[in-house]
Amino acid sequence: MKIAVVGTGYVGLVTGTCFAETGNEVVCVDIDAAKVKRMQNGEVPIYEPDLDVLFERNHRQGRLKFTTDLKEAVDASDIIFLALPTPPGEDGSADLRYILGVAKDLSKLITKYTIVIDKSTVPVGTAEKVHAALAENLDESLFDVVSNPEFLREGVAVDDFLKPDRVVIGTDSQQAEDKLRRLYEPFVRSGNPIIFMDLRSAEMTKYAANSYLATRISFMNEIANLCEKAGADVDAVRRGMGSDSRIGKRFLFPGVGYGGSCFPKDVQALAHTAGQHDYSFRILNAVMDVNTKQRFRIADKIEAYFGDDLSNRTIALWGLAFKPNTDDIREAPALYTIDRLLEAGAKVRTFDPEATEHVRALYGDKLTYCADQYEALEGADALAIVTEWSVFRTPDFDKMKNLLSSPIIFDGRNLYDTARMQEAGFHYDSIGRQPVG
Ligand code: NAD
Repeated sequence: MKIAVVGTGYVGLVTGTCFAETGNEVVCVDIDAAKVKRMQNGEVPIYEPDLDVLFERNHRQGRLKFTTDLKEAVDASDIIFLALPTPPGEDGSADLRYILGVAKDLSKLITKYTIVIDKSTVPVGTAEKVHAALAENLDESLFDVVSNPEFLREGVAVDDFLKPDRVVIGTDSQQAEDKLRRLYEPFVRSGNPIIFMDLRSAEMTKYAANSYLATRISFMNEIANLCEKAGADVDAVRRGMGSDSRIGKRFLFPGVGYGGSCFPKDVQALAHTAGQHDYSFRILNAVMDVNTKQRFRIADKIEAYFGDDLSNRTIALWGLAFKPNTDDIREAPALYTIDRLLEAGAKVRTFDPEATEHVRALYGDKLTYCADQYEALEGADALAIVTEWSVFRTPDFDKMKNLLSSPIIFDGRNLYDTARMQEAGFHYDSIGRQPVG
């Protein structure tokens, strides 16, 4: 099939590359000319495991092309995916200016039957707005609008795209349904479903899924905070709860709050949609409230230990990306931690395997950026762990003790066994477990 993908961020580039991998001809469009140039030269502009191999192969074999020219992409395709940003507006609603702007452009460029597919996360009713924007200049027989929300997770995006738990497609067109079934069949050969539904339900499904996951996180963070006060251990509680098949083991880890480009904005946008329908979605308000506080949990612990004035303190910080295996720092809990530490006067020495350059672009010389996790510890009064990169899981604790000026760890991801940390001679404070040492 001939496919255009408009927007080559984490979703668009993975989508385009994976569709090329199954033999389709794909043109990716972006307004960022520098980014397009890099991709034309064979460079992958984001860090996403396994993307480089697929990108290189499909680019070399001519199935994956890049352009800034929307017309060129429209002429070359009969399916167009919109993988554009939908950032939060000032009132919390999803900002549809990118989606509707491109829809308007498409209305002037489409000349043959084309399926326009919304892959961005957009509120209920957006497909109707895209339809209206296209219909301004196009006969309705020339297009169908489909909602196909994306569920990939950054860090495992390629794997998620190639082997999705499910594909959700909202459409009222049989022609679009048939074509998309064929497009997605190679990805669900193991039997996972392609679930067809109406447009509004598809749009709602994405927000419901993300908001439910965010709810689980905030719920577990509340349980963790209560465990600390009540003398329980959230790790034991998590295992005890998660063994119940109605609950399940996954996504029950407490931490320093959810971040990233999706959960915060999607929970906010769903709450906003509820408001537009005169419905107060009370759980979502609590989920956001808990998360706002939890993002400062590690900074709170540091201040509780050393006092509010950290002007004579140096804190080492492991992890900047909002989660492991990505270079994405959008709404990363690490940034909230850094802001609080800087505000309290601390010097901060950071290390992250992939995200350092993005943080440097934001903070410049306000932070020290280290090339290695141990270098970050040199002379620091304590280590704060904010992102659970695998490389932090079994470090050399003796070396850490020698480098830190005092053996103190604040762990926002519960990476280590508390009894072992006590034995190793650390003061170790984590989330939802009793501090030791
Ligand atoms: P992103 O910010 O990484 O990428 C968006 C891209 O669109 C950028 O490269 C930008 O230059 C480009 N762009 C902006 N305006 C354009 C225009 N007019 N024409 C062409 N290109 C344009 O965004 P993302 O993280 O890939 O997210 C895209 C959408 O997918 C959002 O709605 C998001 O909520 C949703 N989503 C994201 C994820 C995720 O993990 N990142 C997962 C599922 C769904």
